[in-house]
Amino acid sequence: MVSEYRNYINGRFVESAKTFEDLNPANGEPVARVHEADAELVDQAVRAGRAALPAWRRTSAEQRAQYLERIAAVIERRADDFLAAEVADTGKPVSVASRVDIPRGAANFRAFAAMIRMSGGEVYETPTPEGRALNYSLRQPLGVVGIISPWNLPLLLFTWKVAPALACGNVVVAKPSEETPGTATLLAEVMDEVGLPAGVFNLVHGFGPGSAGAAIVDHPDVDGITFTGESKTGATIMRNVADKVRPVSFELGGKNAALVFADADFDKAVAGVARSSFLNTGQVCLCTERVYVERPIFERFVAALAEQARALRPGDPLDPETTLGPLISRQHRDKVLSYYALAREEGATVVTGGGVPTLGGKLDNGCYVEPTIWTGLDQSARCLQEEVFGPVCHVMPFDTEEQAVELANDSRYGLASALWTSNLDRGHRLAAEIDAGLVWLNTWFLRDLRTPFGGMKLSGLGREGGRHSLDFYSELKNVCVQM
Ligand code: NAD
Repeated sequence: MVSEYRNYINGRFVESAKTFEDLNPANGEPVARVHEADAELVDQAVRAGRAALPAWRRTSAEQRAQYLERIAAVIERRADDFLAAEVADTGKPVSVASRVDIPRGAANFRAFAAMIRMSGGEVYETPTPEGRALNYSLRQPLGVVGIISPWNLPLLLFTWKVAPALACGNVVVAKPSEETPGTATLLAEVMDEVGLPAGVFNLVHGFGPGSAGAAIVDHPDVDGITFTGESKTGATIMRNVADKVRPVSFELGGKNAALVFADADFDKAVAGVARSSFLNTGQVCLCTERVYVERPIFERFVAALAEQARALRPGDPLDPETTLGPLISRQHRDKVLSYYALAREEGATVVTGGGVPTLGGKLDNGCYVEPTIWTGLDQSARCLQEEVFGPVCHVMPFDTEEQAVELANDSRYGLASALWTSNLDRGHRLAAEIDAGLVWLNTWFLRDLRTPFGGMKLSGLGREGGRHSLDFYSELKNVCVQM
């Protein structure tokens, strides 16, 4: 049955005249009719937020933490509904969404409930001619926060911003990706059920330019924008908010490198790089697309990685045995396949994959591609410099540590890196030298929500996570008292 996904504004589910279709990328079938918010509806959402703000910002951190915990509890209780909506929108295997997306969505609320309870401020005593002054800081909300999120980890990335924003006493106008409106709509139902005051959480559906996304960015009464998505979209948003001088937090694209040294635990490194290249069909911003392997183990490593790629099971996302889902859309598949073609033009050796699998039945209307490994490209090739955002990596040999670091840093992006070595001295030394906001040593995508998260260069602006989220979603006010 096709669902109806409505906007949620001022505590009510709101329809709009214009709708668009939400499709299941595993079989091309419709999932929902989505009510698109235009500038007028976004304006209603912003005004509802503004009206709710004075009372919400006066609630205590403890009260807000309790709301967040109730939200987490309802997500956990309705985990099956969230799982079904996420799998229908993304085609990701239930084995992935049930372990990663849905539990992490709830965990974001629990984590920021704990963090806001524990957060404190700064206090300084300052000597003055009259005696001394006391300076202390107050953490106050930004106000109305605009949240714009992508499709690759829909609930996880949406709640990663909604939870800290609410924890800090902000009201939000939030837009999920047009590709994945399902779990955000369920989250609005959760907000309704826990009795969050009307106007504190507002959900608007739609696209970017000429639609809800641009309307949030252009609205004069939005006090800050937090965005996760492509680097070029981040640049557009930055231009559009520039003359309003508002805080922005950007989590953007990546072209992440893995460095594998000959002394690494071979099997762990192969399994780790395979996971980091192919998890979520390569559609995690942290995924590895560039693998650099120390020459003595290069051939063996490529063969073992290819074996792992071939062992992946594309198929029906609802089948627990499926380990590889489709890409998010036809349009995205066209983009990924254009890189598969470009790699050949640029002279790559296709070690495995490079095409579209035949799965049979309705799945052949889906957006599947084969997991793909390339070798033999120049470092300057477009396939080694541009983000593909699919299940693909290029493997290149290196001879020295210095060369490995140089290759890893030869990118306009700087989001994440993974180092595989048993020499921890080297691991720590190189971690400091890699230009990336996140470095994993002998692991990948292991996250502690208290730690700073974000990218360098084209990969982002600012950090979220732990107190860094609290800092972005707050204005810090200094109060100076002559004693
Ligand atoms: P996207 O930039 O196309 O869209 C992201 C969101 O922005 C969507 O909700 C979209 O509707 C909206 N949008 C698009 N144009 C807009 C505009 N002009 N004004 C306002 N809103 C606009 O990104 P995507 O394709 O949904 O996501 C994939 C990208 O996100 C990849 O590049 C990936 O690396 C990146 N990503 C980064 C992180 C991170 O933490 N750094 C996490 C996940 C994804």
